Amino acid sequence: MDHLTPQQRHNTMAAIRGKNTKPEMIVRRGLWKRGFRYRLNHKRLPGHPDLVLKKFRTCIFVNGCFWHGHLVDMKVFENSGCCKIPKTNRDFWVAKIRRNKERDKEEQRKLAEMGWHCITVWECELKPSKREETLESIAFTLNHIWLQDHQARVIAYPLQNEEDMQMPMAAEGDVV
Ligand SMILES: [Zn+2]
Repeated sequence: MDHLTPQQRHNTMAAIRGKNTKPEMIVRRGLWKRGFRYRLNHKRLPGHPDLVLKKFRTCIFVNGCFWHGHLVDMKVFENSGCCKIPKTNRDFWVAKIRRNKERDKEEQRKLAEMGWHCITVWECELKPSKREETLESIAFTLNHIWLQDHQARVIAYPLQNEEDMQMPMAAEGDVV
């Protein structure tokens, strides 16, 4: 027997598993509301991204500021406004956060190699005062990525034509 309500138990279990945690839910709901569709925790991709938007070839990671050392400089490793490293067992925490940051970087490098874009959303960017702005900016970035990926193909054709058209123009110049 425990004294948790079903909702409390759900929250506790979710926190332990690291899934369906609050910041991630904010991003999911915010993007869904804006018409974006995604898959969750794609097992076969490096780092198991929290959200995967296939149409945008984009992975989204929702990172806790402490565990992923937000704004912590890897060289000096001082506390940042987001990540206060405990004084007790400091070396242990520094090593742990450093490993997490290195792993994040490595996973995103692999994803980039596979042709995926990566967006990292930080917990601190999702607090109530910043939330809407952050979600808007994710939506903007996604649309920008989509346009860029598709523009590249569209532009390739007129550029070639333009080159062909320059040939006779140069010949005309010679005649004059
Ligand atoms: Zn932060």
